[in-house]
Amino acid sequence: MTGSRAPTDIFRLLADDTRVDILRAVAVAQYDLDQVGSGAAELAFSEIYDRVDVENTSKLSYHLGELTGIYLRKTDDGYSLSHAGERIVRFILAENYGSPESFGPEPVDGVCIFCGADALEASLVHQFFRIDCTACERQVSGQPITPAQVKTRESDALVQSVKRRSAEDARLVRQRLCPECGAQLSVEVVGVPASALPEADSFVVMSTCEECLREYNTPLTYSAVYHPASIAFHWEHGVDVTARGLWEFHEYVYEGRWTSEQVASDPDEYEVVLRHGEDAVRLYLDLTATVVRTERVRRESG
Ligand SMILES: [Zn+2]
Ligand SMILES: [Zn+2]
Repeated sequence: MTGSRAPTDIFRLLADDTRVDILRAVAVAQYDLDQVGSGAAELAFSEIYDRVDVENTSKLSYHLGELTGIYLRKTDDGYSLSHAGERIVRFILAENYGSPESFGPEPVDGVCIFCGADALEASLVHQFFRIDCTACERQVSGQPITPAQVKTRESDALVQSVKRRSAEDARLVRQRLCPECGAQLSVEVVGVPASALPEADSFVVMSTCEECLREYNTPLTYSAVYHPASIAFHWEHGVDVTARGLWEFHEYVYEGRWTSEQVASDPDEYEVVLRHGEDAVRLYLDLTATVVRTERVRRESG
């Protein structure tokens, strides 16, 4: 249980080279030992002793005692990483505490949601992956990126990884699962008629994690696009929305092919229409932006 311990105590436990080496050694040993389907391996005291540079067994025993309960779990079979141990050791191994290498500006596909120009550029700005419009000079999209994400990819693959990541996050958020900490998100649909957003979609879904305080705000149409009915509809029309970056949806909203509208109040209900050619899928969302029913429309204009 960590509930009674101050965060500074938790981090102070790691201000020691031997303890960081122990966590690293457990991760490396598990990586070496893991067999398919066996789950996380547990390491015996002697196996850790063989892998860590520590004076004697009583010193190791002391450090293991300090780490156990917070960063390590201990069973009769040995030691393995706890949730906090996993998070911290992967963070250390991937060196995600460093600064990402510089990237861009690189031209990317898609149009500006504000001015419609086909003039988007991706770059890293203050460790953030940003898409900017070079025509109206506004920021079109921005998301956090990890140094390891940048380090292991060339530019095209990096942009692709940002798209996949944002699509994965958006799908989790749609299911009210915080991508950062796993807690349940609270969700609210807010009308922003006076905003700079195109009239076609003037609602924003605000998803907030009350636990880790992370916030995710997206236009209402984008929060519906990852519903299976929409994924299937687009797939049948040759578009894999799960491989698209959110900024690549801007043209649909800008051109008014994707629209949202409030169709009922008390309780509030919203209709999102996603069109492709003459076909469309309609999704009805409740006040928590949960899709409650869907329908397909063939030849909507006819
Ligand atoms: Zn623009
Ligand atoms: Zn969270």
